[in-house]
Amino acid sequence: MSIVQTVSCLDGYDPDALRVDKARAAILSCLAPVADTEKISIRNALGRVLAEDIVPQINVPAHDNSAMDGYAVRFSDLERQPLKEIGTALAGRPFAGRLGAGECVRIMTGAVMPEGADTVVIQEVAKKEGERISVPPGQKKAQNVRYAGEDLKVGVPVLKIGTFLKPADIGLIASLGIGEVGVRRKLRVAFFATGDELASIGAPLKEGEIYDSNRYTLHGMLSRLGVEMIDMGVVRDAPDLLEQAFRQASQKADVVITTGGVSVGEADFVRQLMGRLGEVLFWKIAMRPGRPMAFGKIGNAFLFGLPGNPVAVMVTFYQFVRDALLFLSGRDAAEMPLLTAVAAENLRKVPGRTEYQRGTLFREGALWKVRTTGQQGSGVLRSMSEANCFIVLEHERGAVKAGEPVSVQLFEGLA
Ligand code: AMP
Ligand code: MG
Repeated sequence: MSIVQTVSCLDGYDPDALRVDKARAAILSCLAPVADTEKISIRNALGRVLAEDIVPQINVPAHDNSAMDGYAVRFSDLERQPLKEIGTALAGRPFAGRLGAGECVRIMTGAVMPEGADTVVIQEVAKKEGERISVPPGQKKAQNVRYAGEDLKVGVPVLKIGTFLKPADIGLIASLGIGEVGVRRKLRVAFFATGDELASIGAPLKEGEIYDSNRYTLHGMLSRLGVEMIDMGVVRDAPDLLEQAFRQASQKADVVITTGGVSVGEADFVRQLMGRLGEVLFWKIAMRPGRPMAFGKIGNAFLFGLPGNPVAVMVTFYQFVRDALLFLSGRDAAEMPLLTAVAAENLRKVPGRTEYQRGTLFREGALWKVRTTGQQGSGVLRSMSEANCFIVLEHERGAVKAGEPVSVQLFEGLA
């Protein structure tokens, strides 16, 4: 099905006043993840997407073992004290014998539970006189024992296809003795900035020029997603150069991202060009910043034509492109969480568009509060640089008073 057909089926689709949620749904409904896979070492697998289920062939831990340093005992023997210490079990060096009635074994954390023992008494409470060990009352049967398969069980899938691999996942795979995993190939993303006013770093600024910053923020945001990047530089607002750039980019990459050239003044000319090259939709999204945006396909590549203003580039990237790239990479849906904080100041907002104000989340006593980073123009990149979150003001919402709850989307997270 063509992009126009797919998208126009969506309920409430209006290219000239498209709600953020509709735009996101429209994009996702057109995408299909890359199918190619490769086998790689787990050392290189951080941030990659699993192309196979991981099913344990061994239990982790492999044996019942002690969670503490102390004495391995038979719980029923504790009525007949003292016990006789008959040997030692160390991690990696099991006790070879078997516990008989009234006997115990000195045991260290991680050591295999000796045959016949069912409970571990911690060394801090045990009294030792020669080889006679006594234990105070109040012990519980099976305490301080870790059981085989408690973490991972043979045959029970632990990581599924589509998992985005975090450090813990890589450790988990290693704990199964697996050194290589099947992952989806990296997504290839080509990008360029458009505009006659753009100067490249290294060249002196001429009258009316600005340095191209969008390509560098894009480079940073794409690096974090772990995609393969093809930086195609700055392209002038000239039809033949743009056509050539779009053709080249779409041949090399799965996704093409551009900045600039989609606002009202320029859209007509880009629109004509796109009409020749592929199938591209031009949207006016009910959001701020980041109103104009193009989405579509050129050849086999998906195109995201982002606005030119530096903050609008980042907002549209995070709200639309990021999810799309993760989905195309084969990763399970991973929407960024919205948390609630208290507005520390009045916020200007009109109903009828979603706003992404740049905020600083901070703590005041037990409360998490948020204030804006000052001037919020879509060209003021400093507002992003100083921020640690977006303050997300929903479509229907009007002005916000200090003290009201607002949604925030954090820029950073563990992982
Ligand atoms: P446009 O959407 O092409 O009209 O661009 C809107 C505004 O964004 C321009 O007037 C520039 O000030 C700014 N802009 C466009 N491209 C870039 C870029 N690559 N780096 C920094 N600012 C840009
Ligand atoms: Mg421009």
